[in-house]
Amino acid sequence: MIVAPLGSGSAGNAYYFESDGTSILVDAGFGPRETAKRLEQIGRELKNLQAIVLTHEHYDHMRGAESLARKLSIPIYLTRGTLDASAIDRDETPVVVFNNNSTFPIGELNVHACRTLHDATDPACFVIEARDGTRVGIASDLGYVDEQVKSHLSGCDGLFFESNHDLDMLRMGTYPWSLKRRIMSRFGHLSNDDSMLAVQRMIGAELKTLCLIHLSEKNNHESIVRDMAGRLMQRNGVQLELAIAKQFEATGMFEIARRRAARPLIPARYTQMPLF
Ligand SMILES: [Zn+2]
Ligand SMILES: [Zn+2]
Repeated sequence: MIVAPLGSGSAGNAYYFESDGTSILVDAGFGPRETAKRLEQIGRELKNLQAIVLTHEHYDHMRGAESLARKLSIPIYLTRGTLDASAIDRDETPVVVFNNNSTFPIGELNVHACRTLHDATDPACFVIEARDGTRVGIASDLGYVDEQVKSHLSGCDGLFFESNHDLDMLRMGTYPWSLKRRIMSRFGHLSNDDSMLAVQRMIGAELKTLCLIHLSEKNNHESIVRDMAGRLMQRNGVQLELAIAKQFEATGMFEIARRRAARPLIPARYTQMPLF
C-alpha cells in the first residue's frame, strides 16, 4: 500500500492511500487546486481519486471535500453525525454514510472505522486494509486514547498518529485559557506525552512505519516529537521508519507492506447506507 500525507495540521489535513488500483483520500482539508498540486509532488493525479473518507466535520479536515467530490464525481464517506454537522449539500454532492465501528469496502480497500473521543459529532479513526492484508492505521484529533481505539489500531503495519502539542509550550503559550483547556480536555488533542504512551501500547511486531501527524504549529516542534519517538523506539528495542508529517507540502510516499505472511481475508460486512 502507498500512503502519503499531503498536509497535516490545523491548516489542513489530507492523506492519500493507494493499493491495487484504488486511490482514496482520508480527509480533504485542501481545495481541488491545492490537492492537485500536492498529489503532483508525489507523482499522482487528482483525476484518479475514487473516494474521500472523512474523520470528522472540522474545517481543517473537510474544507475541500465538497468541491473535490463534485469536481471528480466521487463519493464522500462519512458518519451520519459528521454529515449532519457539516454544511454539505446532499442534493448536489454524492455522499455515503457509514456507521462508526463498522467495516466497509471502497474498491480494493477495506476500511475499518472506530469512533474516537473529540469535540465533534461522531468522529472516527480508521484502519485501511489492502487485499494482501496490509493494514495501516490513521488517527488524529483525539482528546484521549481509550482501550477501544488502542485495540483497533494495534497490529498495524503502518501507523499515522496524532502528536499535537508539547504540554509546556501549550501552557506557556499565547492561546486564551479557554482554548488551552479545550485542547487539553478529553475531547481535544493529544499531547506528545499521551501520544507516545499510546503508541508504546500499539507498537506490535508488524509495525514498520510510524508517522506522527497533526503537530501544532504554535505549541510543538518537529525536533521534540522526533526525539521523543526516537527514545520510545530505543526503549522498546524496535527499528521503525519514522516520519513527521508536514503541514505545507506532501511529506513523501511510504510504501507499506506486511512484514508477516498475509492471513486469510475476512470479507467486509457491508454496513454502509447509500444516500443517493
Ligand atoms: Zn484537526
Ligand atoms: Zn478536529
